[in-house]
Amino acid sequence: MRGVMEKCTYCVQRIEQAKIARKAQAGPSGDIEVPDGVIKTACQQVCPAEAITFGNIKDPQSAVSRQKALDRTYTVLEFLAVKPRTTYLARVRNPNPALPGGDQPTALSREYLEKNPPLREGHAQPAPTGKGGH
Ligand code: SF4
Repeated sequence: MRGVMEKCTYCVQRIEQAKIARKAQAGPSGDIEVPDGVIKTACQQVCPAEAITFGNIKDPQSAVSRQKALDRTYTVLEFLAVKPRTTYLARVRNPNPALPGGDQPTALSREYLEKNPPLREGHAQPAPTGKGGH
């Protein structure tokens, strides 16, 4: 249908299919848990760089939980405490100034510094504005 945008469901049909298969194996009693790595989203499956990890964030040993625990992890709109389920890993850079162009700021770092100028001593950064409260 034209004009309709849908959010990613992490391929809910694949998730349900894996749950049903697991339930069929386990029988009618008890909770079931789909082992880590059994469910792959379509985007994850076709990404040659393996840039997407999907799994059970309640399992601390799952691949996605281990990646979420890295200090490179970030989310968007974190200051709103919306707790999005998708997290990202910050890019890894080689800051060696001996590399060609290593002493030059990148377009990305220039843009970041324009939007977030370094704080001068005695000048507090304004608090984020937003609606809501306690
Ligand atoms: S993982 Fe990819 S294919 Fe699956 S619902 Fe999300 S955007 Fe669609």
